Amino acid sequence: MIIKHRNEPNVLIIMRLLNARRYRLSANEKNYLSNLEKGWKGEKKFDECQNTFSNDWIILNDLLLEHHNNVFQIDTLLINENLHLFEVKNYEGDFYIEDDKWFTLSGAEVKNPLFQLKRSESLLRRLQQSLGFNYSIQAHLIFINPSFFLYKAPLDLPIIFPSQINRMINELNMNLSKSKDKHLQFAKHLFSIQLKESPLHFLPKYSYNQLKKGIYCAICYTFINSCNKSILVCPKCGHKEKVESAILRSIKEHTILFPKRKITINAVQEWCKIIESKKTIRRILSKHFILKNHGKSSYYEYPSENSASE
Ligand SMILES: [Zn+2]
Repeated sequence: MIIKHRNEPNVLIIMRLLNARRYRLSANEKNYLSNLEKGWKGEKKFDECQNTFSNDWIILNDLLLEHHNNVFQIDTLLINENLHLFEVKNYEGDFYIEDDKWFTLSGAEVKNPLFQLKRSESLLRRLQQSLGFNYSIQAHLIFINPSFFLYKAPLDLPIIFPSQINRMINELNMNLSKSKDKHLQFAKHLFSIQLKESPLHFLPKYSYNQLKKGIYCAICYTFINSCNKSILVCPKCGHKEKVESAILRSIKEHTILFPKRKITINAVQEWCKIIESKKTIRRILSKHFILKNHGKSSYYEYPSENSASE
């Protein structure tokens, strides 16, 4: 049973928005964004396999934990009589190993992903001991992309290739304990001590003025030039969206990028740029938000704390 699902990482959402709004990402930042997208796709793909895990497994996805100031992240953790920790990689193409080093076929050295796996395993072991648990832990490095190949991989590495995932799950599903109390207690413990914001991620120091204003197509990110009816049509891909939904989507973005900026009719008009009618904006804001104050100092708030981040 999955007790924690994976959410799209905030850093990915923000980087994607910055890119869409023409923030000038450096080559490194672009690379970072593309790695985040790739990693996220890989993890989603692994999640699709998760319904074949026995219901006796307690599954926690995307845990961000800390032990003695060492932050570590676990892509997926399975809990039963023992723990299985998974690190998912969406590598593509051919790689080879020489001693402890990993290379692409063109000879460029890449980080050895087994170091990260070992570090997480060791930190999790010490963390659980400090919480009074003593599970044995097995760590696995999953390569999820079928176009990945690793030459000269020693047999004893904890690596699972795409064609082995189903077999691994079948094996893991055997001989499981039905009693869950202790394991649930452990899972809840981990759940409660999770970190909220990852200090491992970096974001460019963007500002409001650096971003392009307007409404862009939700499918292809092309900016829409004008709005004359209640439907917006993308000039590039033809995607249609109701003005109301496009404005709400843009306000949500505004809140994610600038949580401290207040939502006002003027702010929304400036941010969306192509909505000429203040009346339309007021109508939509009154319908979906709560008006605070009156007159010049009035602004709108999301009805509940969570709705902005859904
Ligand atoms: Zn489009």
